[in-house]
Amino acid sequence: MKFAMIGAGAMGLRYGILLQEAGNDVTFIDTWQPHIDKIREQGGVYVMRDHKDRHLTKIKLETPETFDGHPDMFIFFTKQMQLQDYLDRCQHFFHKDQYAFTAMNGMGHIEKLQKYFADDKIIGATALIATVLPGPGEVDFMGKRGAGKMNMCPLNEKPDATCKELFNQLQKAQMNPTLTDDFTGTLMTKVIFNSVINTICTMFELPMGEFGNFPGAYQMGRQLIDEAYDICARAGIKLVSSRDEEMAALDHNTRIDMPLHYPSMYQDMTKDRPTEVDYINGYIADLGRKYHYEASTHLFVTQAVHLAEFHRQNLAKQRAIKAKQTETQTAEQAQTA
Ligand code: NAD
Repeated sequence: MKFAMIGAGAMGLRYGILLQEAGNDVTFIDTWQPHIDKIREQGGVYVMRDHKDRHLTKIKLETPETFDGHPDMFIFFTKQMQLQDYLDRCQHFFHKDQYAFTAMNGMGHIEKLQKYFADDKIIGATALIATVLPGPGEVDFMGKRGAGKMNMCPLNEKPDATCKELFNQLQKAQMNPTLTDDFTGTLMTKVIFNSVINTICTMFELPMGEFGNFPGAYQMGRQLIDEAYDICARAGIKLVSSRDEEMAALDHNTRIDMPLHYPSMYQDMTKDRPTEVDYINGYIADLGRKYHYEASTHLFVTQAVHLAEFHRQNLAKQRAIKAKQTETQTAEQAQTA
């Protein structure tokens, strides 16, 4: 198949490179200039697996302004708050026959994609696949080849030939896809999962295993899960796992599967980038409001993550003031010497 990855960050690179290795024609489209410059200078992307085996992989890289191809499918892997800007800049090469696939975290992206793609051309997914972008031009695939898994479902819940072909290609790329039959339930189950791990590990700057091994982890997780499941029940959303299954998945994922991993929300915060919390816990709280349910724990943790962001922004400002003062002092000392 012919793919264009919209967003060549951690997940865009992982999906794109594995699909390329499985024999597909893949072009990457990105807008982060230091990343674009580094990839061009190196002649590709440095790919690692679990921090090891660093090797250069050639990729075709374009920006929204230079791309003029006609892929079968666009794969969207931006952060939620970047998506509208990408859509604005890329819309000139979208056509009616093309599909949009995404496994972004959070909610809000599907409504945006629906403005550019017909419902029968949108395929949503969720990915339990951890990937890190340590800096411009390099990516670290966490977990062994074939580790991780994903759920996918077309928006109209009727998989057509293209959807089935995508499924085959993802299987060939060892992404372990499962085709589910409930679109909203599939996506919301992952939003709820992230609403526990991503948020708590980000607020307290913890690797996932440390949260999983904390004696109070079950109670903290259960409170968030119960609120979210109560809201979904009111909204008529059929989740793909029960509350107990979701708790068991959280436990397994944090303690056994990825104990050393820091979730992507943590990675954003430590790079002083905005987090997706408004599209995860904030989305659950907003949905609760629509059904007259006060999701007080989700509202609290949304603000707690914003407080952590606010604190880091203040620290960054203080560091900048200190650096400026040191620079001025050094210049003055040089003048008097
Ligand atoms: P990412 O931040 O690595 O990349 C997204 C975009 O941001 C890319 O265009 C990238 O070039 C740009 N970018 C990266 N670092 C930047 C920086 N420091 N300054 C400016 N721009 C920068 O995002 P991702 O991890 O690929 O996530 C994409 C989506 O997939 C999100 O919704 C995320 O929650 C979800 N997701 C991520 C993971 C994971 O392990 N990374 C797993 C499952 C789902």
